[in-house]
Amino acid sequence: MTRTVFLDRDGTLNHEVGFVTRPDQLQVIAGVRPALQRLHDAGHTLVVVTNQSGIARGLYDERTLAAIHARLHGELGELPLAYLHCPHHPDGGHGYGHDCTCRKPGAGLLHQARELLGLAFAGGTIVGDSARDLLMARGLPLRTVLVHSGKPVAAERAKLLQAGMVPDHEAADLAAAVDWILGA
Ligand SMILES: [Mg+2]
Ligand SMILES: [Zn+2]
Repeated sequence: MTRTVFLDRDGTLNHEVGFVTRPDQLQVIAGVRPALQRLHDAGHTLVVVTNQSGIARGLYDERTLAAIHARLHGELGELPLAYLHCPHHPDGGHGYGHDCTCRKPGAGLLHQARELLGLAFAGGTIVGDSARDLLMARGLPLRTVLVHSGKPVAAERAKLLQAGMVPDHEAADLAAAVDWILGA
């Protein structure tokens, strides 16, 4: 069975800089590309799942996000199978200002991966720098790894605790997370 690693984008693959509104604002974190290569070589399927409420906020549009992800895909060695995003925000507009099931911590993007790409959850892992990345795994057979390469860790840990979740693992960055995924 192919195992899937679901990857948050900002703070996990690229540096957290607030909203990335142009392709040239993306800075991939050191060690990410070889880490993804190791997962790929070990037979894992890689899927990026990301909240992009900047679309609902009118900061950029779907076309720009596609250009941002095209650049990211090149920098990641074209290894991820797909980039799934939530463009919504309840306070937004531009046709995206409504509640949805795909904004993390909702699990909608995971279900999209299952339905559109035929991926299974069992044996899979979610890696992210935010509590909401890990909380999307609630009730699903996925392991969770909190990486310390993005948002301040203490606050994210506290949010997880409040929600009754303890990550299966914490790691300094994606490279360290991959050590754990491949070794566990
Ligand atoms: Mg993040
Ligand atoms: Zn959404």
